[in-house]
Formats: sequence, structure tokens, C-alpha cells
Amino acid sequence: MRFRSVLDEIKTYEAGKPIELVVRDYGINPSDVVKLASNENPFGCSAKVLSKIATLTPHIHRYPDDSYYALKTALANRYSVENSNIIIGSGSDQIFEFISHAILEQGDTVLQNKITFAMYDIYTRQAGAKTIRTDSDLHDLAQFEANLIHNPKIIYLTTPSNPLGDALDRDVVFQFLKRVSPETLVVIDAAYMEYAAAKDPKKLIDPKDLIAEFPNAIYTGTFSKAYGLGGLRVGYGIGEPKIIEALHKMRAPFNITSLSMAAAIEALGDQEFVQKSIAHNFREMKRYEIFADASELVFVGSYTNFIALFFPHNQSATKTAKALLERGVIVRDLASYGLNALRVTVGLASENDRFFELMQEVRK
Ligand SMILES: *Cc1c(COP(=O)(O)O)cnc(C)c1O
Repeated sequence: MRFRSVLDEIKTYEAGKPIELVVRDYGINPSDVVKLASNENPFGCSAKVLSKIATLTPHIHRYPDDSYYALKTALANRYSVENSNIIIGSGSDQIFEFISHAILEQGDTVLQNKITFAMYDIYTRQAGAKTIRTDSDLHDLAQFEANLIHNPKIIYLTTPSNPLGDALDRDVVFQFLKRVSPETLVVIDAAYMEYAAAKDPKKLIDPKDLIAEFPNAIYTGTFSKAYGLGGLRVGYGIGEPKIIEALHKMRAPFNITSLSMAAAIEALGDQEFVQKSIAHNFREMKRYEIFADASELVFVGSYTNFIALFFPHNQSATKTAKALLERGVIVRDLASYGLNALRVTVGLASENDRFFELMQEVRK
């Protein structure tokens, strides 16, 4: 059997290791495993979500409302946009997939940061297009601007970014957008925007302002991070109706479940839970920074719920990740990005304690 030749160039996405794997491979008790690998909310999700879902389980034989009217309305209210500005995806990942397939022709180019979310490039290659990257690890819009000569069809700006956690100022992003051709779609991947906005209001990009000034931009958000619904797969895109209508043509019906939709609506309604989670996150982040400074680790100031820790040249982050894993702590090795670094999700205080303690043990 012959598969499309572009598949030869695609590496399967390597997701954070699940707790079950550590239990299976290392015989560790599930309750002793600490997962700090996938930027999940360590508090879980709002209690309101859980009680809502319980009331809905008797109805799961019904297909969901394929227009996702109730969720779009909740998001439209939150962001002061219209339902026609919104598309729902199975995670915001699926929105990138729709974008790629709706826009890219064979041989087109897509511009992204050197170090960023790995899925953009995978969707780009699936479409037979190619990725152009900037030269610097952190987002630098001067470099994006220099690459506009390649006439990209799509530009991905990840702010805050993953896996390094840096974030762009809104004003700088808007200045850059003025220089981009209206024929280019600019994706503002705002998966961690809730965190950045709480840490520094200058980082806040409001989707309503964004699309009012730049009709060629789309804002993507997710319920997987601050809202704690990673397992239910809900994300969204906010853009001009013309863009949203095009993306809808790429969507299969019923692309998120009825439980996912109800959970997202409840989660959106419990901002107190989100704010509590974020306040905890930055309190604990401070401990990571102190730990790094005391341990010969270099870090990038993070606007997210994770921190990238760079190791000295004579120490291997990969080996350290493996040693941590054998002891039940899962973190993300950044070797696949060419970095001698680990990405660690900020967990509960006790989980972070465990990480600090084990790091000292395994780096001896
Ligand atoms: C987690 C993440 C997403 C979205 O994840 P979904 O679970 O698919 O919504 C998007 N972009 C970045 C940078 C992320 O880290």
C-alpha cells in the first residue's frame, strides 16, 4: 500500500505520557504518580461541571445540538461577539486542522516561531504545504516581519507560547498585524491567555478588538488548560463570519460531545474557580523560579501554567526526565525541540514539593 508521500515527512505527535503508562512500566501506585507534563489544571475542573455532567448522563443516547448554539452563545456573551463569529472544535487543535485544510494548497508556506506548538507544522505538512520558522527560540515579531517576503498563507502567533511560556504585548502584536497582507490569515493561539492576562494586562488580546481591527485574524482558545477540561476536548475559534463559514465546511457533524458542550458552558460560568487556579499557579511559579535560581537552571519568565527549565551543558535534561519518570514524576523533555530543557507544569504545592525533592535526588 502507498500512502501520500507527505506522510514520510511527518513525525507522529508525542503527547505527554499518561499516568497509566508509569503505573504499567514502573509498577508505581497510581496515587503516587505526579503528572506535570501536559499543562492541565491541578485542581481538576469546577465542581459545577461535575454535577452538571451527572445530570446529563441519562441523555447520552441523543446526538448533541450540532449548531452548539448554547456554547456559542455563552462564548459570545463572554467575549462580546456574535455567535456567527464562533466555531467550536474538539480542542483548539481541531481549529488549526480546519484552518490548514481550508486554506493551504500544495506548496504554500506557513510562518511560525522556531520553537512553538508542534501541531501547526503537522497540519501544514498534511496539506502538502511547508513551514517557515523564525530563528529565535522566543517570539520576536521583527523576525516574523522579515519573513513576510515568503508570502505565508497562514501565520501562527502563540501568545503565550508553548513550550517556553513567553508572551507578546498586545500593542506589539497589533503593530505587526498592520504590516501583514490582508490575504494572510493570522492565527492568535491564545491557549494560555487566561494566565497571561492575569499576570500582566499588557499581554491581553481581546478577540473582539482583534477581529474588529484585523478581519484576517482568528483567535483560538481552549477549555483544556485554565478551565481544566482537557479530557473533554473543547476549543473554539473567533473570527469574521466569512472565515468561520469557510472553516465550518471542514467540520464533521457533532464534533464535540453533548457532555463536552455542557461542561464547557458550566466551566465558563465559574470564573471564580479559574481565578483561584491562576492565583495558585503564580504563587507556586515563584517557588519554581527560586528553585531554578538555586539549582543552576535557567528559566524563561512564564505567562502560563508551566515553566521551561534549561540545564547546564554538562547535564542531560533527557536523563533527568527519565530518572524522574522511574520515580513516578512525569515532566516534558524538550529534546525534540533541540533543547536541553524540561517543561514542567505547575502542580499542587505537594506535587511541586515532590518535583523539587526528586530533582535534588536525581541530579546528585
Ligand atoms: C494545549 C494547547 C492547545 C490546545 O489544546 P486543545 O486541548 O486541543 O484545546 C493549543 N495551543 C497550545 C500552544 C497549547 O499548548
